[in-house]
Amino acid sequence: MSFQSLGLSEALLKAISKKGYTTPSPIQAKAIPPVLQGHDVLASAQTGTGKTAGFTLPLLHLLSENPKEKYRPIRALILTPTRELAAQVYANVKEYSEFLNLRSAVIFGGVNQKPQAATIRQGIDILVATPGRLLDLESQGLLSLKRVEIFVLDEADRMLDMGFLRDIERVMKLMPDKRQNLMFSATFSKDIRKLANGILKRPIQVEA
Ligand code: AMP
Repeated sequence: MSFQSLGLSEALLKAISKKGYTTPSPIQAKAIPPVLQGHDVLASAQTGTGKTAGFTLPLLHLLSENPKEKYRPIRALILTPTRELAAQVYANVKEYSEFLNLRSAVIFGGVNQKPQAATIRQGIDILVATPGRLLDLESQGLLSLKRVEIFVLDEADRMLDMGFLRDIERVMKLMPDKRQNLMFSATFSKDIRKLANGILKRPIQVEA
């Protein structure tokens, strides 16, 4: 199995080889093809399995395939439970998109919102966010999720543990119904299944 055989673009393969990866991890090998095909995906994966690249690489591939508009609406939203994870995922997005014409930003609470709002105003394709700050900026009219095509819910179990269910539901209402959804979780409780049922449409299920 190679990254090439998964169908990723040359620009992504270049970034992957720059990172020093030679072989896709099991979760990457299983998750990348259905995401590229446009399916919703429910993935069971712990941290350390390479799950971040598992959703970031195909997401970047799909976005870069379609033409960009001059005014860049947010086309992909990656929601994470903590600011540490948001920063980590964002660092991955930046690295993997080095050779692509895509812009990204990260927002989380506990810091001044002004620089975050200024970056978003310039137009970004991909937003990595924690729920609180996302809803906060949206309610101030500083960002819109009306053009989101791909939604990623990362570490969904931790999201629920941290009490973000209501916030997730609010975020869902701000996005178009027609979109691709990816959900990653280390564990699968009854509550996680319920959340998945509410978010995903006929998902392909994969395990690390
Ligand atoms: P994650 O589970 O996404 O937090 O990734 C765990 C670690 O594995 C990170 O340091 C990644 O840079 C690294 N990693 C991800 N995919 C691969 C791969 N295919 N080959 C080698 N290392 C990888």
